[in-house]
Amino acid sequence: MICVITGACGFGKVCAMSGGTVRPIRYLGDPVLRTSCDPVRAFDDRLAKLVDDMFASMYNAEGVGLAANQIGVSQQVFVYDCEDDEGVRHVGHLVNPVLVTEDGGIVAGEEGCLSVPGLHFTTPRHAHAVVTGVDRHGEPVTVEGTGHFARCLQHECHHLRGGVYLDVLTGDSRRAALRAVRSASWS
Ligand SMILES: [Zn+2]
Repeated sequence: MICVITGACGFGKVCAMSGGTVRPIRYLGDPVLRTSCDPVRAFDDRLAKLVDDMFASMYNAEGVGLAANQIGVSQQVFVYDCEDDEGVRHVGHLVNPVLVTEDGGIVAGEEGCLSVPGLHFTTPRHAHAVVTGVDRHGEPVTVEGTGHFARCLQHECHHLRGGVYLDVLTGDSRRAALRAVRSASWS
């Protein structure tokens, strides 16, 4: 999603859509992306600011989802602004998420990641996912997704366990992906 309000996005700038501050995205190779994130225990202003900054950083980078470790914070939080296959837009955040259901069969679809910029690979994911967790106030939340949004939920939960979507690939597509990462300008 491109910011149409100010057009003034960039690192350190305040995002008019979220009120947060844009932080730099960490790229594959940064150890924070390979570290399992810690559960959030304090539901305070700092957490609220983190969520706002994550939205700002996601919008600035034109992503549909972002995990906290992608901006260098090793805490179990992700945000999303993602359409499902029916064109329904889902916007929200989850703290201490648990992927409780992955089912509905495996679907191969194109996937990308802000931490693996410029690359996209066909990735198998379950067609349906349910994630439970809490919001920034500590109130229970359940989020259910299908299609592209289910893919997003699985992708973000995987980040918080220290994974990236390339881990899901196998065989030739995995080899092609690793080759592309090696020759990418940011790696
Ligand atoms: Zn990602």
